Amino acid sequence: MPPARLIVRRGRRLSARPGSRLSAESIFARLGKEYPTAACALNHRSPFELLGATILSAQCTDARVNLVTPALFARYPTPAALASARQEDVQDIIKSTGFFRNKARSLIGMAQGLVAEHGGQVPRTMEQLRLLPGVGRKTANVILGNAYGINEGVTVDTHVSRLSQRLGLSRHDDPVKIEQDLVRLFPRDDWALLSHLLIFHGRQVCIARRPRCEECVLADLCPSALV
Ligand code: SF4
Repeated sequence: MPPARLIVRRGRRLSARPGSRLSAESIFARLGKEYPTAACALNHRSPFELLGATILSAQCTDARVNLVTPALFARYPTPAALASARQEDVQDIIKSTGFFRNKARSLIGMAQGLVAEHGGQVPRTMEQLRLLPGVGRKTANVILGNAYGINEGVTVDTHVSRLSQRLGLSRHDDPVKIEQDLVRLFPRDDWALLSHLLIFHGRQVCIARRPRCEECVLADLCPSALV
């Protein structure tokens, strides 16, 4: 089935100019009311576990990752344990998350980096995180925002990208440029939660193929609304 085509109704009156701070403020407030429990969906008990889970979440659902991480961290509870793991053993545990060879390599390399460079701790800066194998800007934002409460940037995944475009918050496709637009529009204290709110809304209402505009609390703010 082809993706639903979004029609921008130019004549429709919107309650705030798309991409304005007023629009951004209203979007955040309404989504906050709609999803009061929005939070990181990856189960974890420590920054190390969140880092491992986030590496596994590439091209995979959070629900699938949550099925795999209990066995992974039962067998390798610390960076030191994972750093000396055999690649084949890690692969066997994480196989169902896809791309398992690369992910196993990244997990072991990440753990070795933590042990060798950071005393077995997960670092707290974007620069240090990004030097670890398998860790890009998106993963680093997840760790900083959710494990440490540091709002260094906005996590831009596929849901955040899609909603930012549909809501007129960004005209870009590139996640880095979308992030730059979002950090200009939303206060720094809101960045981690903003990402969770957009992800929740993207999973439940503003679905990729078939957005449910008729039940969307943002319809009067959204230039892509089908209602
Ligand atoms: S579901 Fe809401 S946010 Fe998504 S396109 Fe429709 S009105 Fe816009």
